Amino acid sequence: ILRLGHRPRRDKRMTTHVCLTARAFGARRVILSVEDKKVQATVEDVVGRFGGPFEIIVDESWRQRLREFPGPSIHLTMYGTPHTEVVGEVQEAEELLIVVGAEKVPGDVYDLVTHNVAVGNQPHSEVAALATVLYEVEGPEALVAPREGARLVIEPTERGKRVRKQG
Ligand code: SAM
Repeated sequence: ILRLGHRPRRDKRMTTHVCLTARAFGARRVILSVEDKKVQATVEDVVGRFGGPFEIIVDESWRQRLREFPGPSIHLTMYGTPHTEVVGEVQEAEELLIVVGAEKVPGDVYDLVTHNVAVGNQPHSEVAALATVLYEVEGPEALVAPREGARLVIEPTERGKRVRKQG
């Protein structure tokens, strides 16, 4: 997942949610176009407790990364084509890059990616759009997949909280 245009003063919570949602729904890595040590520490703390593999890295040369990416890339934008038309095309790809914006994304992003994809053509949230597309691509199993090195595992229960400590 490539998170573009993070503004540290405004987007901390949203970018953290992008990362946690990416991890929970089956992505392996988030690339931030802008460094934010606080967001990185929060996400790394969750990975330390609840397991991986998942990494958060910073890459300001994201354009080069987009150009050189070996698989399909999807830019999530309300102006794009329906996600239901694209999911089938990218589902089998070994590597998939999903781009989500914060502020308005630079115009050349639309040409650098292989698909501009909308989850409905209404404005909403990058977290909602990302969750929807990852759910379609990775399926429901990704949400319950065992995590490596987890110190805490939540056991589903109808009431209360059941947490198993490991390691
Ligand atoms: N203010 C920004 C602008 O005018 O472009 C929009 C910011 S929007 C809240 C942040 C991100 O949410 C967008 O870059 C896009 O990735 C995602 N997003 C919002 N609505 C979407 C939709 N309907 N489909 C797909 N992605 C969407």
